[in-house]
Amino acid sequence: MAHDPITQSVLALLREKDPQVAEHIAQEARRQATTIELIASENHVSAAVMHTMGTCLTNKYAEGYPGARYYGGCVHHDAIESLAIERAKQMFGCRFANVQPHSGAQANQAAMMAMMEPGDAFCSLVLKDGGHLSHGMKINFSGRFFRPFHYPLHYAKDHPEHERIDYDAVRRVCMEVRPRMLLCGYSAYPRVIDFARFRQIADECGAILMADVAHIAGLIVAGVHPSPFPHAHVVTTTTHKTLRGPRGGLILCNDEEIAKKIDKAVFPGAQGGPLMHVIAAKAVAFGECLSPGFKAYGKQVLKNASALASALASCGYRCTTGGTDNHLMLVDLRTRSEHLSGADAEKWLESAGIVCNKNGIPDDPRPPRVTSGVRLGTPAVTTRGLREEHMGMIAAWIDRVLSAGLANDGSIGDVAAAVRREVSALCEQFPLPA
Ligand SMILES: *Cc1c(COP(=O)(O)O)cnc(C)c1O
Repeated sequence: MAHDPITQSVLALLREKDPQVAEHIAQEARRQATTIELIASENHVSAAVMHTMGTCLTNKYAEGYPGARYYGGCVHHDAIESLAIERAKQMFGCRFANVQPHSGAQANQAAMMAMMEPGDAFCSLVLKDGGHLSHGMKINFSGRFFRPFHYPLHYAKDHPEHERIDYDAVRRVCMEVRPRMLLCGYSAYPRVIDFARFRQIADECGAILMADVAHIAGLIVAGVHPSPFPHAHVVTTTTHKTLRGPRGGLILCNDEEIAKKIDKAVFPGAQGGPLMHVIAAKAVAFGECLSPGFKAYGKQVLKNASALASALASCGYRCTTGGTDNHLMLVDLRTRSEHLSGADAEKWLESAGIVCNKNGIPDDPRPPRVTSGVRLGTPAVTTRGLREEHMGMIAAWIDRVLSAGLANDGSIGDVAAAVRREVSALCEQFPLPA
C-alpha cells in the first residue's frame, strides 16, 4: 500500500487503466516505505513536491523564457518559472538563475558549453577519486568535446590531509595546463570544499571557476556548508539530492554576461521545451528550502552523518579522511576484512533492507564494478525523522549483516531476514512524508 493518499488514488486509477504499471509502482512504494535509504544522492520529497509533478503542466510547450516564449498560452507558465527563479536566487543569495536544466548533467553540459569552446582544457577531480562522470569521463560529452586534466588528492597514508584535496597540487596542475575552467564540487567527497582557495587558484591561472554543488546544495542553503558565492563564477546543482526537490538541474551566477550565455546554452543550446511540471515542483521545493524548518533539517543531516561515521568506526570500519564534515561518508571495508568488497556489501545489505551503493575509495585496488568501499549518506533517513540514536542501530545492523556474510561465504538468509524485520519495524515508526 502506498503511504500517501495521492499515490493511492493514482494507483486506484492505474489498476483500472494499466494494472501492469500499477503493480510495479505499488511494489516500489512498499520498498521505499519499508527500507532504510542510505544512498547519499537520494531523498524523499514532500507530497506537495511529488504531486506537483503529476499535474496538467506536463501538457504545455513553453520553449523560451518568461516573457519570451515560442508558443502561445504560456502566461501561467511564465508566472511559475519566474517564481522558481526568484526563489532560487533568494536561496543562494545570487543575481541570476536558470531553472530549466532537465538534470544535473545537463546543467553541467550547458554551463560548460557557455563557458568553453570545444577543445578547451579544464581541470577537475577524476570520477574514481569522487568526481562525477560529467567532469571529464572519456565517453561523456565533457571528455569528448573538451580536454579534461585531473588534480589529485593527498594519497600518502601518513599525510595529515590523507584523501583530502591537495590544493597545492591543484595549483600546480592549473599553472601547467592553464585551463579555461577550474571545476570543483563532487559526488563522493566527505569534507568541506574551500571555494575561496579554488578562486584564488582560478584567478592565478586565468580560469573561470565552476562549482558543481549537486550533492551539498541543500547543506549550503541550510547554512551548514560554506557557500560557493561569491567565489565561483558559475554554480551548477541538481535539485533532487539534499535540496529535496524533483529530479532536475539548476544553474546560478552573479554576472549578467555569463547569465545570458548560460540561458542560450540551456535553450536552444542543449534542450528544447522545459519540463514545466518539474519547474513548478522546483518552485514548491525551493519554497520549502526557504522555510525555517530547512535549517534544522540541514543541521540534523550533518549530526546524523557524524553519528553514523563514529558508530561505524567503533565497529572497526574506517571512513576515508577519518570521518565526515557533510552528509556522506566513504567506508573503507578493507579495515573490517581484506575479503570484503563494496559489491558484496551492497548486495548483502540490500537483502536486509538497507540500501546503499558500492563506491571506489581513493587509490582503490579493486575495479569500479567491485570496489573496496560503500558510500553512505543521511539526507533520506533524516527526512524520515531518524536521529543520532538511530544511527547507532543502523551501524550495528550493517556490521551484523556484513559479519554474517564474511563468516558464511555470503549465505546470510537468516540474519538478513532478522535484520530486515527490525529495519521494517523502525521504518513503520518513521513513515515517509505524506
Ligand atoms: C548527481 C551529480 C550530478 C548529475 O546529476 P544527474 O541529475 O544525475 O544528471 C552532477 N554532478 C555531481 C557532482 C553529482 O553528484
